[in-house]
Amino acid sequence: MEMENKTKGELLREELFYTKKSVFEVRTLAELDEAREYAKGYAEYLDNSKTEREAVITTIKMLKERGYTEYSLGDKVVPGGKYYLNNRGKEIFAFRMGTESLNEGMRISAAHIDSPRLDLKQHPLFEDGGFGYLKTHYYGGIRKYQWPTIQLALHGVVTKRGGETVEISIGEDAGDPVFVITDLLPHLSGDQNKKPLASAFSGEGLNLLVGSTPFYEDDGTVTKVDEKVKLNIMAMLNEKYGIVESDFVCAELCAVPAGKSVDVGLDRWLLGGYGHDDRVCAYPALTALWATDDSVHTVVCVLADKEETGSDGPTGMQCWILSDLIDELCAATGANSNICRSKSMCLSADVSAGFDPLYPEVFEKRNSAIVNCGVVVNKYTGAGGKYSTNDATAEFVGKVRDLFGDDVLWQTAELGKIDVGGGGTVAKYISNCNIDTIDVGVPVLSMHAPFEVISKGDLYETHKAFVAFCK
Ligand code: MN
Ligand code: MN
Repeated sequence: MEMENKTKGELLREELFYTKKSVFEVRTLAELDEAREYAKGYAEYLDNSKTEREAVITTIKMLKERGYTEYSLGDKVVPGGKYYLNNRGKEIFAFRMGTESLNEGMRISAAHIDSPRLDLKQHPLFEDGGFGYLKTHYYGGIRKYQWPTIQLALHGVVTKRGGETVEISIGEDAGDPVFVITDLLPHLSGDQNKKPLASAFSGEGLNLLVGSTPFYEDDGTVTKVDEKVKLNIMAMLNEKYGIVESDFVCAELCAVPAGKSVDVGLDRWLLGGYGHDDRVCAYPALTALWATDDSVHTVVCVLADKEETGSDGPTGMQCWILSDLIDELCAATGANSNICRSKSMCLSADVSAGFDPLYPEVFEKRNSAIVNCGVVVNKYTGAGGKYSTNDATAEFVGKVRDLFGDDVLWQTAELGKIDVGGGGTVAKYISNCNIDTIDVGVPVLSMHAPFEVISKGDLYETHKAFVAFCK
């Protein structure tokens, strides 16, 4: 008997001390295989959702397959009914009406589906030195040096005169061309190398190379007009999409890393790709919706836009639309929306900075998110002395801990060392509506880089966390 060999001190230590455990200590091999299988569905979701617009389209497809129907504010709803509200094609609210009254509150999960990238400017196209370029304006927090010399694809929409909107996606399919931002060769970068990292690359320098051949007249001669390369690019875009240069003003075109997500490492346990932040939380929040069909609660999954730039505007979480939706659902079912909000709970799902052994100096290891140790719970985020954050109450953290029980492997963390930096999430905008909210999410390595890395085990534990929360 092992028990008999342990001293009182050893037993007491086990009972009283907290020890962080990894998925490999807690889960069986069969369970780890489940996580690998689950990650395949996620990888497909990620690959098909490079922008918030594409994430909304992918999400609606999945929702329709599971019986969800489109809802507009003011529509009737029935208990057990499954609906989605599509906000401008850039944000989506998927929800299942429960059998209990909304006066008991809702279970809300909120993630975001926008990611850092390079948006095109409104007048993007120019020609210089025989090359055609598109000027970009970066979206969200990027480290500019990471974006030159990688293959970039162009995704987005252009609204033409009269209102027709065409979708553009170039650089993802086999045989597609890609785009690139060029960089100096090491032989000539001596001066650049001496600059601080933050100033060595400028926002105005992130111009996308998109062509280098001139426009040819019908007789096979190079045109004599000015800006021959630019003309050729515009002519090709016009032929394929019917757009003219002034249509760029009514467009949302984004340069994002081209290509698909891929396993990282010989053991294929990590998944690398663009846009884990925050689809790696959006996907498990969604799959938890249909894993908890028998729940009595009304469950809402919000996939928001504009988190990376501050959540402003009609598709960001600072917009009142979540509150409007709660008002409408309460009105439709005879509940009181103020009571509903006060009884509701929210998991605000966003990625955490995974502890990186290559950069230990920016982390406080005792309070860091460790990759492979499960879903991360952040009582608070913010920066500069808990500034600008939702700080969940002890009671609410306790409630979430009880809901997770033994079903979920979870850990707590802060975003790096105090005063080194910090960051926020949408949690505060939801809790400002009188909804108890806490941050949860997946630890990420190289967050906001063109190629981010996550663990399949942490992804699956995040799915389990949402299931435990919603059921
Ligand atoms: Mn995020
Ligand atoms: Mn982010």
